[in-house]
Amino acid sequence: MSFFFFIHWGRKKILPPEEKGENSESNEIIIIPGAVEITLSSHDIVALNLDSPVEIKSSLQGIIEQIKTKEGLAILAHPSYLLKPYSRRTLLKLRGYLGMEIYNPSKIPWPESTRRWDFILTRKYGERIWGFTSDDMHDLKRDAGRAWVMVKAERNTLSSIFESLKQGSFYSTTGPLIEEIGSSTDCIQIKIKNPAKFKFIGYNHQILQVNFGKEAIYRIKPGDKYVRIEIKDLKDKKKAWTQPIFVHEGRIIYFPYFAKGEWLKGCLHLHTEIDGGTARLSEVTAWYKKHNYHFLAITEHNFITHPKYLVKIVP
Ligand SMILES: [Zn+2]
Repeated sequence: MSFFFFIHWGRKKILPPEEKGENSESNEIIIIPGAVEITLSSHDIVALNLDSPVEIKSSLQGIIEQIKTKEGLAILAHPSYLLKPYSRRTLLKLRGYLGMEIYNPSKIPWPESTRRWDFILTRKYGERIWGFTSDDMHDLKRDAGRAWVMVKAERNTLSSIFESLKQGSFYSTTGPLIEEIGSSTDCIQIKIKNPAKFKFIGYNHQILQVNFGKEAIYRIKPGDKYVRIEIKDLKDKKKAWTQPIFVHEGRIIYFPYFAKGEWLKGCLHLHTEIDGGTARLSEVTAWYKKHNYHFLAITEHNFITHPKYLVKIVP
């Protein structure tokens, strides 16, 4: 696979040309192009699908706007990270990002950011801010496979995966797998593989309902504004999080899981030896492929990954 072969040239590492990742063969792992973890002194942002470098000597909002202009997707990385937290004030000010990492296992002692997520979903009610998780792998043995997203996409192609990410047709998980999630005008049904505790959570981080078992039904109540579901496996205590389902006057107004198709497994934040990680790209992709991943975003610190090249975006 030619993508794994690097040509080192000074400080740039150039990959040989390859067709843009519109990869439809089901046994090939898709490498999301234009991926990077933009690392600033105060915050980190994961960007996907950039076609050119971002000027990082800019405000946080300025960087998000550049990502948007380049038709990229911006995901706020580990908002509860002790060294680079996104304060509630900052979250309120920022606009135009697709979502935030609601769980990042590498950021101990606070990997989870669901309180911040509910804060922003509440204060910016109606804005579709999606919740992501990824393993943020630096060390293959230690970190790989601890958290990922499951995307319901019409086809196993890059454009279809992007479409689903944009519309929120995915969930985040450290283990539990959803078999079905459906809705009617005032009802949400969910079915999963192994017995779990379901927590239906809404406006202001309020717990609306709790159920145990392999399936649950939630009937929308008059005051509901959004409903999201947290799933905790009863045995191993691992968790999964659906996206918020938006509600108005007792009716569902936006249900993100309307894409038909299959659930595709992906990791949108990980590192290789290029910058920050320990494993070679070929080892990384082989590991994820072996563990049934369909797509990966190689998000080196301030290097854009592209099927054709890597460019360091910090001078
Ligand atoms: Zn990272």
